[in-house]
Amino acid sequence: MHLQDILYTQGFGTRRVCAGLVQQGHVSVGGEVVDDPFADLEPEGLHYIVQGTPWEYHEKAYLMLHKPAGTECSQKPSTYPSIYTLLPSPLRLRPNKGAVQGVQAIGRLDQDTTGLLLLTDDGQFIHKMGSPKHHVPKVYEVTAKHPVDEAQIAKLLAGVVLDDDPKPVRAAACESDGPLHLRLTLTEGKYHQVKRMLAAVGNRVEGLHRSRIGELALPAELAPGQWRWLTADEVAGLR
Ligand code: URA
Repeated sequence: MHLQDILYTQGFGTRRVCAGLVQQGHVSVGGEVVDDPFADLEPEGLHYIVQGTPWEYHEKAYLMLHKPAGTECSQKPSTYPSIYTLLPSPLRLRPNKGAVQGVQAIGRLDQDTTGLLLLTDDGQFIHKMGSPKHHVPKVYEVTAKHPVDEAQIAKLLAGVVLDDDPKPVRAAACESDGPLHLRLTLTEGKYHQVKRMLAAVGNRVEGLHRSRIGELALPAELAPGQWRWLTADEVAGLR
């Protein structure tokens, strides 16, 4: 694929802008500046540098982000900064069938919730992960306002009724590591589900952190606000 086309697919701007970046010597591959926009390169596995920043080619982008508190999972946030401002612009500008779309969060976390958030520009993957038939377990670390007791744990496991649906929702797993801590595993993703479930058993969420989605745990070295690419195995493990 021509270098200018590679850059275009990865969100560096129009083909003309990408050609300009190359011609001006801003792009290097294998430690050498490549100034020919039509240089023919194998995109798969390509590592390259644009204006000092290292990149790797991904036909589709799959990322994890450590969402910090005080950010909204919306492109048009109402009060807090958008999580999308934490991503470099090529990830936000990757073209999708001609339209500029960039990556999108797979599901949302509340502004005060921290932890593991997945993003992609693969519409089918977003659809699949969001489908009610796709029960990938999500693990939440809850800091409760009141001490958690056995009766509350039993109710969360047996199922509680939330205000918008008579069908009870239950935690797939629920364990406590201390009086104010709960580790809750959910296989559905209803609006404010953890907060509403805790309220339904007479407690309250003071802090919420998502530590795991399926096989994928938030790595300890990924600080709040940081992102990284998912590996092909990690993506396959989520499907
Ligand atoms: N449940 C909630 O209440 N909030 C979140 O952000 C995620 C799950």
